[in-house]
Amino acid sequence: MSEQGHGTVNWHRLDPTGVVQKLQSSDTGLASEEARRRYAQYGPNELIEKGKRKAWRILLAQVKEVMILILLAAVVISAALQEYIDAVVIFVIVVLNTILGFWQEFKAENAMAALKKMTVPNVRVRRDGAEQQISAKELVPGDILLIEAGNIVPADARLIAAANLKVQEAALTGESESVDKDTGALPDGELALADRRNMIYRGTVVTYGRGEAVVTGTAMQTELGKIATMLQDVEDERTPLQRRLAKLGRSLAMAAGVLIIMVAGMIYLQGAGFKEMFMTAISMAVAAVPEGLPAVVTIALALGAQQMLKKNALIRQLPAVETLGGVTVICSDKTGTLTQNRMTVSDVVLPVRRYSLDEAVAEHGEDADLGLLLLAGMLCNDAVIDENAQNGILGDPTEGALVLAAQQAGLVQRDLQAMLPRVRELPFDSERKRMSTVHALPSPSQGTTLHPVLTAAGNQGHADHLVLAKGATDGLIEVCSRILINGVVQPLGQKRKEEISAENTAMAKKGIRVLGLAYRLMDVDELDQPARYEEDLVFLGMACMLDPVRPEAIESVRLCKQAGIRPIMITGDHPLTAVAIAKNLGLTTSDTVLTGQDLDKMTVDALSARIKEVSVFARVSPKHKMVIIDALQAQHEIVSMTGDGVNDAPALKSADIGVAMGITGTDVSKESSDMVLLDDNFATIVAAVKEGRRIYDNIRKFVRYILTGNAGEIVVMLTGPLMGMPLPLLPIQILWINLVTDGVPAVALGFEEAERDVMNRPPYNPREGIFARGLGWQILVMGLIIGLISVGTGYWFWDGGTGSNAWQTMVFTMLTFCQMAYALCVRKQTQSLFTQSWLSNPMLLLAIGVTLALQLILIYVPFFNTVFRTTPLRPGELGICAVGAVVVLLITESRKLFLRSKRIEYHA
Ligand code: ATP
Repeated sequence: MSEQGHGTVNWHRLDPTGVVQKLQSSDTGLASEEARRRYAQYGPNELIEKGKRKAWRILLAQVKEVMILILLAAVVISAALQEYIDAVVIFVIVVLNTILGFWQEFKAENAMAALKKMTVPNVRVRRDGAEQQISAKELVPGDILLIEAGNIVPADARLIAAANLKVQEAALTGESESVDKDTGALPDGELALADRRNMIYRGTVVTYGRGEAVVTGTAMQTELGKIATMLQDVEDERTPLQRRLAKLGRSLAMAAGVLIIMVAGMIYLQGAGFKEMFMTAISMAVAAVPEGLPAVVTIALALGAQQMLKKNALIRQLPAVETLGGVTVICSDKTGTLTQNRMTVSDVVLPVRRYSLDEAVAEHGEDADLGLLLLAGMLCNDAVIDENAQNGILGDPTEGALVLAAQQAGLVQRDLQAMLPRVRELPFDSERKRMSTVHALPSPSQGTTLHPVLTAAGNQGHADHLVLAKGATDGLIEVCSRILINGVVQPLGQKRKEEISAENTAMAKKGIRVLGLAYRLMDVDELDQPARYEEDLVFLGMACMLDPVRPEAIESVRLCKQAGIRPIMITGDHPLTAVAIAKNLGLTTSDTVLTGQDLDKMTVDALSARIKEVSVFARVSPKHKMVIIDALQAQHEIVSMTGDGVNDAPALKSADIGVAMGITGTDVSKESSDMVLLDDNFATIVAAVKEGRRIYDNIRKFVRYILTGNAGEIVVMLTGPLMGMPLPLLPIQILWINLVTDGVPAVALGFEEAERDVMNRPPYNPREGIFARGLGWQILVMGLIIGLISVGTGYWFWDGGTGSNAWQTMVFTMLTFCQMAYALCVRKQTQSLFTQSWLSNPMLLLAIGVTLALQLILIYVPFFNTVFRTTPLRPGELGICAVGAVVVLLITESRKLFLRSKRIEYHA
């Protein structure tokens, strides 16, 4: 074992048994005791993450912010000018702000890291002689790993069994074509990684088939681990909105530059000295730039992702939270997402007879054709009976239904598998839409008697193998040339094919899933010609299955439509089955359906032109999902697309929101997705969209709140000197307003509940700017109003009209009070403050309470009077500030009243 991971053992040259021995493992796998020991020795199977930012890095990033640097400069210069109090206060505020920003980013980062952890895949291993599921993290060298199409290989391993195994190794070799893998030993000499056909490597993707392998290296001892340092760039996970906000920040900084020069000029003309001019410049810069905004957005998105998790939607990419709110089309698979994926066989249709399941159970002993069909269904099948599993079956529900039906009729899966061992297979894939298995027939000389139903197969004793096939009937009859009727194999003519098709169609129209079954006898010399397995088959009949729709999907489809989002069904099933189920769901009323074949004949443009009227796509393969996405995106739709298989990965990547299935989805699909549905449920997508809309609305709410505050401060600072007053607000006061008065309630606005009409309105135009729908004007107008109220009050007091010397404190307090009132009003877009529940956002009430209390402390505690240059206000003066707040409240609420009277429901 000591050689493990040091490259001294050429695993690929050893034969499989040698490797297993060398790693001190066995076919039954490691004993769990030994696995624990090795885990202690080798550690978790994880790459050392350079990507995750350490706490100090986040802190450093905070400190590197331009604004903080400017403020630090201000500290130094203030100190140099012997303004020690200012220096200390600015420094303390900088520290507080850094802590706040750090805490927010740290929390957001941790929230996302926790979500990422949840996506560590489970892997199947054999330990103590039994198959088990463990977390990929727990793998140790020597583990016997079971892999199948759709898995991302979790460690480096030497194959010991492989059936049609193909692996895509682009992550290591850059080659995007899948390569065949097998167990054979390789010749001596150094082989390039791509040529080591009997090894599988961490991070590569199993695209086809299945296999078993013994783990040779984990964690950083894998080939991927060795190059991991090259891969781990920190991704820019900023969302489009955050990027736009950053840009906005830069433009505001430019504008601030101009303002600063203007104001500083005015102050200078009034005869102020350098110090005052300098401090003014600094405070203007601080007033104009919304420092806190990007951090507040991050925390809102991360908290949103946590909320979504509570609703079973696991967010993998932070920007998805934002994009979800703008989704205009939800493309969904049918089976399992819109339906329950609880299949039961309802009928069995033979060429000349049909049985309900009950009849089939009673009759199968009498009817050998029926018996053979049931046997084919049970053996050409990867589902296994497992009393402990949900519904008694492990595996695909379609297959499970067939196994259960045969079992009810008295067939015993284990016995049949022992008598007719599977020696080859062509696995199911969503292109062919069928699968087949090849079984060795017991030779008469062995003395075993053939199962009675097999006599119906018409074996005259020559053939030694049996092919069993099942799949979509329309495709299957194309590869059948014969048909079994009453124990006699007959040619399958065109007329019969049409009859079968008609029967198939009739069932499909009722929303039933129909699976055809067929068989053929085969000689041993054909074993190595897989292309021939599905040729010249004998058609047996069809099994009909019911898959009830999810009741909650009906409601979600209705909700989608009400919210202006188009649900589209994309399925591999028969077009008529698809339409029938789509109608049951209320997803469509029309019979229009496009099939994969139709799509093959269409250009993206042609499809784009028609896509508005088509809500159901059937018999499609994963590649068609790409075409559908392209056509929708050409129409400027924001597309969410579900997928579960290996081949769905490209579609999941190119959709605006790729949605993978948490239960039935493959590792690859999850890895390519933006969001994982932990319950595979369509309703969860819709719930996530609703949540996304809420968060987007809330972001706009605090953008509006913060920027209005900034605008108010600028108005005060600009008009004050114009009216001949000295600086109406001191730099430290502005800093305080910006970082506390504006910052604290803004975070709380992120917790605001959804608007009541959130799913009654169409999605917002995804390309709209932050200031769309009147937000920009609102900010300017309300900023002006709040600014003028504050500076006006200040002027009145300054002018001596009131006989008070507290004019500056009045400006400072008035601004704060008005902002608090405004925070209450921006909670809802048009709903009145008086009809909404006050307690629905306790965080906001708390934030407002704390901010007001702090303001009072700044005014009434003598220490802070010195620090913030405030004067205690008389009760009447405090009352005047309260009146100002009421005025702001009345103005905003009157506007809402006006919007409501005009029935303008969704506005800034
Ligand atoms: P979805 O709506 O998720 O696309 P689907 O199950 O209808 O669901 P596929 O899984 O691609 O889509 O299946 C397409 C067709 O292939 C089915 O309609 C069925 O006829 C056939 N099929 C499905 N599963 C199997 C299987 N295990 N073996 C053989 N044929 C299958």
